[in-house]
Formats: sequence, structure tokens, C-alpha cells
Amino acid sequence: MDRNLTPEEFLAKILEPAKQTDHICWKCKHLKPVLKDSAYPPADLIGYCKKIHWPFYWCVSEYDVVKKCYAYEARG
Ligand code: SF4
Repeated sequence: MDRNLTPEEFLAKILEPAKQTDHICWKCKHLKPVLKDSAYPPADLIGYCKKIHWPFYWCVSEYDVVKKCYAYEARG
């Protein structure tokens, strides 16, 4: 195990997302991705944005590919 990883980097390494898309959200610290083998969420979601409609989550669909976002913040 690499002990130099930040907590965010460690989680990104062990929690594998279910989808692969061109969303800028993948590089954003506000995305909570749907994880591989997760059965509960609707099938078209890549994850949830924790920022846009705070304090609620916004469902990010794989069909609405976000390329630019005013609230984007790079992962640490
Ligand atoms: S803030 Fe924007 S870029 Fe970041 S997860 Fe939400 S929608 Fe995606």
C-alpha cells in the first residue's frame, strides 16, 4: 500500500466507479460516483454532484455529458 496517498487518492484507488464517460465531473471533487456492482441507483447515473443543488444531491446522468461547469473544483 502506498502510504503517501491522500485520503481522497486512497478512496479513488479502492472505490471503482461503475461508468466511464467524458464528464468533467470525474476530475471534480464534488462528484460522488456510483460504484461498480452497485444495484440501487438508476442505471443511467454516473454519480451525484454534491455542489450544484447543495444541500441536495444532483443526479449526473451519463446522457447529459458535462464538459464545462461553473462550480468545478479539481480533486485535491
Ligand atoms: S460541480 Fe460541476 S463539475 Fe463538479 S461534480 Fe458538480 S456538475 Fe460536475
